[in-house]
Amino acid sequence: MTTDYIFLAPEAVFPITKDENGNLMDTNPATGFSFAGTIQGEGKMAGVPVLFIRTAGCNLRCMWLLPDGEVSLCDTPFASFDTRGEKRVPIETVKNIVLNNLGKLNHLVISGGEPFIQPAGLTSLISGLKKERELHVSVESNGTIFNEELVEQLDFFSISPKLKNSVPTKEKLDKTGINIPFEPAQADKTRRNIKAIQQFIDHCNYTEGKDFQLKFVVQNRTELSEIEETFLSQLSGWQPDDIVLMPLGSTPDELRQTRMIAVEAAIERGWRFSPRLQINYFGGLAGV
Ligand code: SF4
Repeated sequence: MTTDYIFLAPEAVFPITKDENGNLMDTNPATGFSFAGTIQGEGKMAGVPVLFIRTAGCNLRCMWLLPDGEVSLCDTPFASFDTRGEKRVPIETVKNIVLNNLGKLNHLVISGGEPFIQPAGLTSLISGLKKERELHVSVESNGTIFNEELVEQLDFFSISPKLKNSVPTKEKLDKTGINIPFEPAQADKTRRNIKAIQQFIDHCNYTEGKDFQLKFVVQNRTELSEIEETFLSQLSGWQPDDIVLMPLGSTPDELRQTRMIAVEAAIERGWRFSPRLQINYFGGLAGV
């Protein structure tokens, strides 16, 4: 299937300073810098200078109950829970915006929402970009959908499988007042696709120059046995260095409640701990 457009979240190519025609925009990006680009804030690639594309729409609706009783939503609700701001953008337009803003950057990150719900458009976009520039392209995905054509175009796979604690239960929905047509039982089933995660791992292990990480968001120690028993014990081809623990939270205050659990558990197991640099350095604003 081919398509000539993709659905993007508002201000989806970021941080940028030039429009699709190469003209300077009126305002600086949310980083506060006068130039395009930011750093990848999470996982194995933390610190790498990048440009992001954020796609709209997701097949999940994650929300977490914090230790203080508050509910923390997915950190990109505008790309998952409420996509009323999404735009249907021609691939050629996205391609021109990216090329006009790359400068010395050679790393592009496709994030969401869930990028794999629109594989045809992204396959076409990335293959078009790679014809123009040497580019390393990462994807950030929940690991529930695998698509061979899109995977072929990508170089790094940041797979973030969702644990039971992410399911939108009635208690969480009541606390937030959010009304979504998601049955907890169905959401619990959808969030975990071992076969798809294994396909991502196998693709990297059998293709030179590709890498992946399995990035788990944690807030308490019981989740560690869930990671080991319901994910890692059923997957093969991973090394301890591929497993990344990241504290739950989309604000510095929320991260303070959960970060030491992730630090301790990573050290005990020889896994990685991931910071969320975009929250520490840029306040977790959209567009950084
Ligand atoms: S999978 Fe990611 S983008 Fe989708 S709802 Fe969950 S946290 Fe948000």
